[in-house]
Amino acid sequence: MEETLKFLGKDSGFGEKNNSAYYETEKSLIIIDCGFTVFQELKKKFDFTKYEDINVIITHLHNDHAGSLSQLILYLWFTYNKKINIISKCNNIKEYLKITGTPDEAYALADNSEKITFINTEHVKYLDSYGVKIILNNKKIVYTGDTCIIEPFLPYLKDADEFYVDVSKYGGAHLKIDDIIEKLRELAKSGINIIPMHMDDKTYIKGVIDKNIKAN
Ligand SMILES: [Zn+2]
Ligand SMILES: [Zn+2]
Repeated sequence: MEETLKFLGKDSGFGEKNNSAYYETEKSLIIIDCGFTVFQELKKKFDFTKYEDINVIITHLHNDHAGSLSQLILYLWFTYNKKINIISKCNNIKEYLKITGTPDEAYALADNSEKITFINTEHVKYLDSYGVKIILNNKKIVYTGDTCIIEPFLPYLKDADEFYVDVSKYGGAHLKIDDIIEKLRELAKSGINIIPMHMDDKTYIKGVIDKNIKAN
């Protein structure tokens, strides 16, 4: 099954390529999260001159999700004179951009968008964290961001097409694959495409998923 979102990286926070997804149309680019490895990936991959709008959704302010956000904003503003849209509900994002020297006029910040529903979740006690429900290319997509619980997402999954889910081998601040595999199997049976992300051990996680979810 073709996945709607493409990824710049699917590694967990200490991995090589930060977890970050994107969706591109001819004139528009949507990026989900902009961790410290993401700016260089974006710079290599995209011709920013062609977009009429560039949108970045930020799920939470850990460095592997927002660590090069200021860099991206500055680069697009000073190199291409483009003002990007930041869409986020994070409590401290304005302050975060301010202390990293990001000029107000270089970005527009919104905490909602007609296409996006933020889903408040739990990840670590030090930060507020959100997943999103977003409709792209007529697909209903649920994307957890970093989360240690699955419950906030379940109501949104009833009619979803794709579920991008933060899973780990060891759990803790993230969903532990062995704990939720039954639930994922159930969701897959109902026709949802399950896409693991933010993985600390890809081989292990893919092994568990292959063994339990045949449809994928
Ligand atoms: Zn993370
Ligand atoms: Zn995190």
